Amino acid sequence: LSAVSARKVQKQYSGERGVLALDGISIEIPSGQFVSILGPSGCGKSTFLRCVAGLEDITAGDLDVNGKPVVGRPPDGIGMVFQRDALLEWRTIRKNLLLPIEFAKKRVSEYQDKVDHLLELTGLQDFGSSYPRELSGGMRQRAAICRALVDDPTLLLMDEPFGALDAFTRDQMNFELQRIWMETQNTILFVTHGISEAVFLGDIVMVLSPRPGRLMEVIEVDLPRP
Ligand code: ADP
Ligand code: ADP
Repeated sequence: LSAVSARKVQKQYSGERGVLALDGISIEIPSGQFVSILGPSGCGKSTFLRCVAGLEDITAGDLDVNGKPVVGRPPDGIGMVFQRDALLEWRTIRKNLLLPIEFAKKRVSEYQDKVDHLLELTGLQDFGSSYPRELSGGMRQRAAICRALVDDPTLLLMDEPFGALDAFTRDQMNFELQRIWMETQNTILFVTHGISEAVFLGDIVMVLSPRPGRLMEVIEVDLPRP
């Protein structure tokens, strides 16, 4: 079963000068793969991710996530991380991490161990009761990743998650992400315009064309993994 199955997916934004942001994207993404989505600014990377997340409706073609068509709402079993972390400033880190559980109307008390484990995994074990403003940019982004993972997503969508960080912190975060991915074994779609980052992290690199919305190349990266 493919984690994501796109067949001739098209996305035209509405409005007078509505851009054709995706122009016939077809790809099958097997479960458990780390997929980098690479291309210059404006080529449709975020649009593709938002369509997979059910945040935008496609205008033609078929798009399935975990075997079900994406229709107008986020599919089950996805987690998202954006460039800006979107942590709620008035909630502690622990309470931020529990947000998806509250949204899903699940019992928060049953997820405390999970939260502890994720905080540990990302080196934030001492910051559960801190507020977001007390954390560095990299730590905040790690907390955002924890939050995306707390409800055990099978598909993790990341839109330039480290784009706002300095180069040094970004490298460090890339290593950590690889470690997290090896532990969780979920499928990751990772949007970036960094070529080395895309190749370092990805099993598969989807290259979108500067002419918006075309899939130029799908590269299977065959590098030894740690
Ligand atoms: P990036 O290149 O990093 O994806 P952009 O600056 O292109 O970021 O876009 C930032 C935000 O603005 C995105 O949420 C995107 O959806 C929105 N956006 C980009 N272009 C347009 C547009 N032409 N009309 C409306 N919103 C747009
Ligand atoms: P990328 O993530 O690769 O920078 P985007 O998916 O953000 O590219 O944008 C692809 C194209 O769609 C761009 O021309 C952008 O201006 C346009 N676009 C993005 N978001 C919107 C939006 N909400 N409304 C209208 N046009 C948009």
